[in-house]
Amino acid sequence: MPDAPALFPLFLDLRGRRVLVVGGGGVAARKIRALLDAGASVTVGAPVLELVLAAQVREGRITHLRGEFDETWLDDVWLVIAATDDREANSAVAAAAQARRIWANVVDDAELASAQLPARVQRGPLQIAISSGGSSPMLARHLREKLETELDDSLGALARLFADARTRIRAQLPDLTARRRFFQRVLSGPAQALLRRGDTDAAQQAIDDALITTTPTHGSVALVGAGPGDPGLLTLRALRVLNEADVILHDRLVSREVLNLARRDAEFIEVGKRVGGDHDATQARIHDLLIEHARAGKRVVRLKGGDPFVFGRGGEELEVLRAHGIGFEVVPGITAAVACAAHAGIPLTHREHAQSLRLLTAQARDGDAEHDWTALAQPQQTLVFYMGVVGLERLRDKLIAHGRAASTPFAIIENGSRPEQRVIAGSLDELPELARIHAVQAPALLVIGEVAAFATELHWFGAPPITSDVRCLQRALAHAA
Ligand code: SAH
Repeated sequence: MPDAPALFPLFLDLRGRRVLVVGGGGVAARKIRALLDAGASVTVGAPVLELVLAAQVREGRITHLRGEFDETWLDDVWLVIAATDDREANSAVAAAAQARRIWANVVDDAELASAQLPARVQRGPLQIAISSGGSSPMLARHLREKLETELDDSLGALARLFADARTRIRAQLPDLTARRRFFQRVLSGPAQALLRRGDTDAAQQAIDDALITTTPTHGSVALVGAGPGDPGLLTLRALRVLNEADVILHDRLVSREVLNLARRDAEFIEVGKRVGGDHDATQARIHDLLIEHARAGKRVVRLKGGDPFVFGRGGEELEVLRAHGIGFEVVPGITAAVACAAHAGIPLTHREHAQSLRLLTAQARDGDAEHDWTALAQPQQTLVFYMGVVGLERLRDKLIAHGRAASTPFAIIENGSRPEQRVIAGSLDELPELARIHAVQAPALLVIGEVAAFATELHWFGAPPITSDVRCLQRALAHAA
């Protein structure tokens, strides 16, 4: 579970509001400069002031309260910053502020502070504030530096153009959805590149053009593969489509981290099938929802774990859409076999060990799947079973009975590519026992074939594989301790 952030981000309009800064040194001076930039009415309280502050007092830009901190300094103050180099003095300021319910920032002391100043990236009116919740200001600063290099000034210029056009945009496009599409048109258009080249007039023109273009109100559906869970394994196209979605119908398998990347004000509908539930009823409901929202002119994203065309019933959904004349696109995703193999160090094919790869399901519509067991029992091929945490005994017996060697390696990858990934490896004859002993849980994928032996040798991600080999087991335990 990700940690819940302890801090609530908030941007303050300090224009004309009184802010007290206690302390008259260099740190106080830096905070005061930022406060003045934000238009605050600053009072500084300290026995003596360093040069720049003294000059600002002389120029009438800030007010000075001379002496040691006094509680009455907090009268009429919205926010206080304790910036002395004396923890006791800072602590007294924080306590007095707390008693009066005034937010207090204490420089370099997250413990005393009720408000923290974030690391910031500014581009014109646009601001990005970063907080590590006090856990590591260095990390926040590092991220800020990264963003400083990644986000160029054209963003600020664009924000300014949008600000200028704000009234016109609202008048022309009173409808929120239409307005959002307008912004998407501008953002995916040439405006930003033009600004980067310094051509503000042409950028302005691009915005005006986007404003008069009328958008089609046909809804459409994007069938999108969300990959195995790690958002780093989404495609850029999936990300773009998720950012433009009005409605997102997602499976239960889709991770929270991926959903967090989607447009915040999209409507999220979980349509997952539960074990033991009525899958056909659920599927029919999904079809109804797809049609209903697309007909209402929405941009619908149907988001599935892995790839939508690999054991995802994506084909069925598109057939229904086609029958109803609804437009669609398909965005592929990294399927569990590919993601799990990569994260378990199992090359699915190998010049010496496996010349073919089969993706199979362990479960059919009604119970255990039937396969061409003779074909599956051939050596030098990799079998990947989806939905395969049950029926392992039968699977092993069938394969061995049809001639696959009892010593053929297998690997079960549970929660593949996620931080809690577990890999259990062994040989075919001990497959059901090992799965039982280690209480394998869904989602898990089963790989059978010579290449599965690489799980031990090429392990690189998460905990080392659990094997029946005692030495490996000990090593795994030592590693986990
Ligand atoms: N369309 C999906 C598969 C859906 S079927 C895809 O392309 O990956 C669901 C099965 O996928 C699960 O029963 C499990 O076998 C497998 N699976 C999905 N995500 C997984 C993961 N992170 N780790 C292991 N197996 C996973």
